[in-house]
Amino acid sequence: MLTAENTQSVKVRPVVRPFYNDTSVFIEEEPVNFMKQVQHKNCISLYHYKEIPQFLSGNPYILHGYRVHLPFNLCIKSLFVWSNETINIWSHLIGFFIFLTLMLYDIVVTIPNFNGVVADYFIMSFGLLCFQYCMLCSTGYHLFGCHSERSCEWWLGVDMGGISIGVIGCYIPAVYYAFYCMTIWRDIYILIICLLTVSTLFLQRFQDFSSKRWFRMRILIFTALAACGVIPSAHWIYLNNGFSATIVQIFIPKVAVLYILGMIALAFYLSRFPERLRPGMFDMIGSSHQCWHFVVVIAFLWCYNSGREILQYRIINSCTL
Ligand SMILES: [Zn+2]
Repeated sequence: MLTAENTQSVKVRPVVRPFYNDTSVFIEEEPVNFMKQVQHKNCISLYHYKEIPQFLSGNPYILHGYRVHLPFNLCIKSLFVWSNETINIWSHLIGFFIFLTLMLYDIVVTIPNFNGVVADYFIMSFGLLCFQYCMLCSTGYHLFGCHSERSCEWWLGVDMGGISIGVIGCYIPAVYYAFYCMTIWRDIYILIICLLTVSTLFLQRFQDFSSKRWFRMRILIFTALAACGVIPSAHWIYLNNGFSATIVQIFIPKVAVLYILGMIALAFYLSRFPERLRPGMFDMIGSSHQCWHFVVVIAFLWCYNSGREILQYRIINSCTL
């Protein structure tokens, strides 16, 4: 990883070049000139919060390390520049490769060892493909969001769509194997989950959905989508005759851990902790958004592992209902 100090091929220099006039009103022409400057010099400058355009000013507690108006080739080059987006980009890019590797391993090793059928290949791969898609969308947003306001808005929409797809990647294998022996309920719940996910994706087509005005509503919709899993879980416990059933005792704690991880992730996302306590201290490492990214990867891994265990359980224990 290159840093501002040791990089040779990419010049990184802090520049004080205010984009704001005295009353902090954004001046339209400045970023255009700045963009030409960046393109000509082929260097990546990092900026202070006070110098960045409004579309990048989402977190006032992150003070340094902003990339601004980079052309796409420099956005890609900035993968190797230590900015306040570096960990956000790499955490989910590495996450993508982890889920890709797990998918290939399952196809080549795990499912053949379990004597799985075609549906097992499809369901397990579907879950991991959803996670990969979510990781790539997030990487794209954090990598290319600095290009322009339009690019930022477009990629934010893609990133939010990725979250919906990631959530469905958690649901489908879990519901499929949990309701493996109750095919009617399995199909009903899978249909409901798909409809809910398509609804959230449809909402994201509206431009307002990614605006600041819709922030609370966005959070509410994604939280509701994740929380909906409580209904099939409760129904599943009932269909298995309560908490005394072995399968319930094995898998309900896993569902509980998943929801705890989800709540931790959401708490980081909303609270902007820890940077709100010491603005500027967590610009590069340890900010709330980076923590959110890591917890999301852990939650997906947990979800995948639980799906894999319930698949194994279903192969060993045949249906008795
Ligand atoms: Zn993110």
